[in-house]
Amino acid sequence: MSRDVIAAMTAYTLELREAEVKLNQNESPFDLPRALKEEILARVAQRPWNIYPDFESMALRGALAKAYGYEPENVLVGNGSNELLAATIGAFIGPGTPVVFPKPTFSLYEKLVTVAGGQAIPIAVDPATGVLPLDELLCAAERETNAVVIVCSPNNPTGGVLPPRGVDALLATGATVLFDRAYGDFAHDTLPPLHDRLVTFSTFSKAWGLAATRVGWLASTAATCREIRKVKLPYSLNIISEAIAATALQHRELRDANVARTVAERARVYAAMQGIDGVTPYPSQANFIAFTSRVAAKALFEALFARGILIRDVSAAVPNALRVSIGSPEENDRFLEALRETMKAG
Ligand code: PMP
Repeated sequence: MSRDVIAAMTAYTLELREAEVKLNQNESPFDLPRALKEEILARVAQRPWNIYPDFESMALRGALAKAYGYEPENVLVGNGSNELLAATIGAFIGPGTPVVFPKPTFSLYEKLVTVAGGQAIPIAVDPATGVLPLDELLCAAERETNAVVIVCSPNNPTGGVLPPRGVDALLATGATVLFDRAYGDFAHDTLPPLHDRLVTFSTFSKAWGLAATRVGWLASTAATCREIRKVKLPYSLNIISEAIAATALQHRELRDANVARTVAERARVYAAMQGIDGVTPYPSQANFIAFTSRVAAKALFEALFARGILIRDVSAAVPNALRVSIGSPEENDRFLEALRETMKAG
């Protein structure tokens, strides 16, 4: 491993250790109840660990199909939705493929598109509007032949959503649409109907509060799932994570409670930020809020960090902006207090 990589990993670990309030990665502040964790682990301990997982991951695919009204053949599961995004981009994007996406957005898309040799066509997002620029996305998708559109709604890091029926309108251009609803539960979204040219990505990392277990899933038609499977690595999901996610699906009340608490806190934090002189939060339907302030983003990041609060400096993507995840009420209070103090001092 290069010295740079080791230095970066060490710095990251130190950052985590020093921050008392970690609001930088859009994680859920709510862990799975201890008793449920132990029940799942006891069950997994009964199963042989010297044998590979089921090649088809049927337990989880079946549970997801049942929960969301699909057939198992419409569902693929993987090691986080990152893995499934990589496989799908590998399946649909090759040298020269025009790929339309809002910018800023989740930076992994552009990285994967570049690796695949696709032609990136970014469409500027105005974070102040709270919606993604559907008309501009449609124009670009119509202009290009065989375009792929990648959209994340609510969008990371800006928080805005695609207008109603936006996915249908994008499909009507003839484009292939990769629709990432990593934060969709916080916007009370519904999954769009299946279509050969549509792949919908979901994750257990956010609303379900299971980021450490690395489970993501996608939905599409059986034919499209078969194409993606040709690219996806076999056995990428281990038996422990699979069992955790399948059990979580039997406790949807836990996710619903997480979402309700986060959505209520989001409204409270947003209103409180609006009340702080010099701070401008952007509207968000996700579990985070992007904002700007009259203090330079880097200086504000450091001032908050010195007070034990770790958020994300997203100024490389949105001018002078930072992004804060919605944490527990206590964590949010700590963040708001530190922000108030910093703005007073600045
Ligand atoms: N999509 C978006 C928009 C994200 O922000 C993230 C993670 N931050 C992911 C996908 C990846 O999620 P996972 O943990 O399932 O790999």
